[in-house]
Amino acid sequence: MVLAVAHTLLAILYVDLFKRITKTNLLTKWHFFATAIAGLLPDSDIIIRFIIKNILKMPLPNLLDHRGIFHTPFFALIFFIPGIILFFTKKRNIAIYLLIATFGIMLHISLDYITSGGIHDGIMWLYPISTHAYQGIIGFVYDVDLLTISLDAFLLITWFFYILKTKRLKEFF
Ligand SMILES: [Zn+2]
Repeated sequence: MVLAVAHTLLAILYVDLFKRITKTNLLTKWHFFATAIAGLLPDSDIIIRFIIKNILKMPLPNLLDHRGIFHTPFFALIFFIPGIILFFTKKRNIAIYLLIATFGIMLHISLDYITSGGIHDGIMWLYPISTHAYQGIIGFVYDVDLLTISLDAFLLITWFFYILKTKRLKEFF
């Protein structure tokens, strides 16, 4: 299970690389902010689970539980299809946000696929054709949580060092 900071920073890193390689001027700072949120979108199932189970006190359908339907390419398609259609219209800016959401979701579930976990203990790559959950690449690892917490800490410190070193925090000091 990869945690929030890793999901967010890796999504931003890839979009930044994309911007540098393609030299596109389509991406603004707000697209980067959207990327940060997009990288976390699938884990909104954790909030949904909390609301349904603990606040509404209702039974939670398996598909809505952690690593259910929100962790499938099908969820990404909901953003991708209108994104591709709108990209070729005058609403290109909305399309970019939708495509960023698609990218964030796909990157998130690919990272989560590294380890098993969640109610489905894997990722339903072929949903809705099949509800088979494919196990993570490295499967169950004892204490993987501690490892991913360490990874998050390492990435956060590295990122902070980077923005300090590149003087991107100069407005604060
Ligand atoms: Zn996740």
